[in-house]
Amino acid sequence: MKYISTRGQAPVLNFEEVLLAGLASDGGLYVPEELPKFSQEEIASWAGLSYADLAYKIIKPFVDDCVADDDLKQMIDETYAGFNHTAVAPLKELGTNEWVLELFHGPTLAFKDFALQLLGRLMDYALTKRNERLVIMGATSGDTGSAAIEGCRHSDHLDIFILHPHNRVSEVQRRQMTTILEDNVFNVALEGNFDDCQQMVKDSFANQDFLKGMKLGAVNSINWARIMSQIVYYFSASLALGGPHRPVSFSVPTGNFGDIFAGYLAKQMGLPIQQLVVATNRNDILHRVISGNDMSKGELVHTLSPSMDIMVSSNFERMLFDVYGRDGQAIADLMDRFKSESVQLEDGNWDKVRELFDSCAVDDETTCDVIKDVFAETSYLLDPHTAIGVKAGRECNRDQSVPMITLATAHPVKFPEPVVKAGLESPQLPPHMTDLFEREERVEVLDNDLQTVQQFIAGHVHTN
Ligand SMILES: *Cc1c(COP(=O)(O)O)cnc(C)c1O
Repeated sequence: MKYISTRGQAPVLNFEEVLLAGLASDGGLYVPEELPKFSQEEIASWAGLSYADLAYKIIKPFVDDCVADDDLKQMIDETYAGFNHTAVAPLKELGTNEWVLELFHGPTLAFKDFALQLLGRLMDYALTKRNERLVIMGATSGDTGSAAIEGCRHSDHLDIFILHPHNRVSEVQRRQMTTILEDNVFNVALEGNFDDCQQMVKDSFANQDFLKGMKLGAVNSINWARIMSQIVYYFSASLALGGPHRPVSFSVPTGNFGDIFAGYLAKQMGLPIQQLVVATNRNDILHRVISGNDMSKGELVHTLSPSMDIMVSSNFERMLFDVYGRDGQAIADLMDRFKSESVQLEDGNWDKVRELFDSCAVDDETTCDVIKDVFAETSYLLDPHTAIGVKAGRECNRDQSVPMITLATAHPVKFPEPVVKAGLESPQLPPHMTDLFEREERVEVLDNDLQTVQQFIAGHVHTN
C-alpha cells in the first residue's frame, strides 16, 4: 500500500515510512493512495471474531508487507490484551436504539489508547529493525499526551516530548502524564492554549534543524497509523448490532476530526453506516462548516470538555482532499488561505460534505444537563465529551429505527468537574490508579516561544 500527501507535493511513502514521518514535507497529511474495500459477505464472516482478530483483518491491508504477519498479529494481540474489559470495546444500551460504545477501558481511560498502544509498538518495531532512534513531539489537549506516553515509555528507541496547555488540562489528565518518570519521557506545560501547542509542533516538523540530524515522529492524529487503528471499532460495533445486514449510525465527540474520519473511512471501506454525526462543544468551527459553509476560526474558548477545545482540526483536511476529488493543489491553496482568513467551500463540495456528515454544537450547560438526565433515567454516568455525543446523536437522528451509537471517548473519572456541576457524586478512580494523587510529578513550564521549547528538546534528547 502506498501513501500520498493531501497537498500533492511530498514523496509517496510506504506504511513504515508514513508511520515514522508524521506530517508530509509539503505540509499535508498522508492518506492511502487507495482504500481497501470489503464486501458485505466478507464483513459478515467476521461476526464472532475477537476484537484483536478483527483488528488484524482490518489493519493488515494498510500495513501491507512492512511488518511480518506473525509480528503484526502479536503486536495487535498484546495491545488489546492490555485493556481492562474482555470485549475491549463494549456497547451499553441507553434506550431504544440508543447505544454508547465504551472506548475507555485502556490504560489511560480514553479512546486514544486504541491507537497509541499499538502505535508505540509499531514504532519500536520499525526502529529496532532500522537501528534508528526517533524523537516524538506531540501536542495534547489532555488525553493524547497520557496515551502517547503510556504507549512509548518502554521503548529504547524513542524520546517523547509532550506539550500541554498549562493549567488547561484536568488534574487527572495532567497527573497521568507527569507521574510517568522514565528518563525518555518529557512533559512541557506551555503558557498558551492547545492550538499554540499544536502550531509549535507543526512548525517544528516543518524545520527540524534544531535537532541537529535527529528526526521527529508524530503521535498526534496526523499520524496515519492512529486513524487506521480507530477504523476497527466502527466495524466491531456494527457487527455487534447486526451489521452489515443492518445499518447503524454513529455520533462522535469531535476535536481534531481523527475519530470521525476513521468512521468515514469505515463507510468508504464497505461498512453500512447511515449517519455520521459530528458532535462539538462551543468550539464549533466544524459544525459551522458542515451546517453553514462557514470555515472561520473564531476565538478558542475553554469548556468542560477540554479534549475538544480545538479550532484547527488537522484531519478535516484529509476528508476535504477526497471531497475535492483528491486535488492536492486545491487543498494546498485552501489551507493556505485558511491560515489568514475565513474560507468557504465551493457549493458542490460543501454539498458533498453535508451529505456525508450531520453536526451539532453543545454548550457547557447542556452538557451538564445531559449528564444529569441520562444518569437519572439509566444510572449511567457519561463523561462530558460523551454527553455531547449523546445530545448531538439525539438532535441529528433522522431515522429512529437505526441504532445510534455514541462513541464514549473517555471515562467520567477523568473529568469530574461537570459531573459535580450536574449535582452527582464524583466518580472513583479505578483500582490500578488509586494512588495517582500521591505520585511524584515531573513537568517543565515553558513560555509560548518556539525557540525556548526547541532548545529544551535539543538539550534533553538521547542520541544513542
Ligand atoms: C481526543 C478526544 C476527542 C476528540 O477526538 P478527535 O479524534 O481529536 O476528534 C474527544 N473526546 C475525548 C475524550 C478525547 O480524548
